[in-house]
Amino acid sequence: MHGSIRLHVAAPLAAEAIVDVTPAQAHYLGAVMRRGAGDMLRLFNGREGEWEARIVALKRERGQLVAVRRLRPQRDDEALWLVFVPLKRDATELVVQKATELGVAALLPALTERGNVPRLNIDRLRAIAVEAAEQSERLTVPEIGEPQRLAALLGAWPGDRPLIAAIERAAAPRLRPTHKPAGLLIGPEGGFSPGELDELARHAFVRPVSLGPRILRAETAAIVGLALLQAPVTG
Ligand code: SAM
Repeated sequence: MHGSIRLHVAAPLAAEAIVDVTPAQAHYLGAVMRRGAGDMLRLFNGREGEWEARIVALKRERGQLVAVRRLRPQRDDEALWLVFVPLKRDATELVVQKATELGVAALLPALTERGNVPRLNIDRLRAIAVEAAEQSERLTVPEIGEPQRLAALLGAWPGDRPLIAAIERAAAPRLRPTHKPAGLLIGPEGGFSPGELDELARHAFVRPVSLGPRILRAETAAIVGLALLQAPVTG
């Protein structure tokens, strides 16, 4: 049995490939999960699918695994990107964790006029995304971009990918599910400025939508929007 532990690794995965674990993974496997040599687990690296692996050796700060057989071929999650404005630390971390669980392929932080912009710790956000990918049985870890101004992000946006923009207090149609490549844009706690609304309206790929009659906090709006976008298409 391969067991329930699933780790993301950077190393290539192939039959009999030896994989060194990081000190944090060695600690997790040994001290937290009480595993040792001979125990089985699963590995993925975002490129070569999911592999069953065996612990060859495990010490306090290092260990070696051997990949045994492939359990799932690689499948890329490319369909959904999330553009979000950095929030307070806990809320941003929640958005990264939940967006990863909900299958987002790229998380793109945007800077807006009204967002209060704490410095983003991208390494910590990446670690949260890795953990959420391990837990949610994804085969990939989402990319987390460097923060950029909303206007710059819109300027570089691929025009063939609709950007579903959740705009509060607008007479926009309700968000409808899509399974085609798309982006979801969620604004800052303070809402979009008039200038930003004008800028959004200038781009043909931007599709304004409403998330309903209540004003949701930005992190709620991100989770709800991602869930609604992926709801089964009916009718
Ligand atoms: N301060 C703004 C106001 O009072 O009008 C509300 C901003 S809201 C807390 C943060 C973001 O969540 C918005 O910019 C929007 O992207 C999204 N959002 C929240 N509720 C929404 C709704 N009912 N429809 C569309 N977007 C919504």
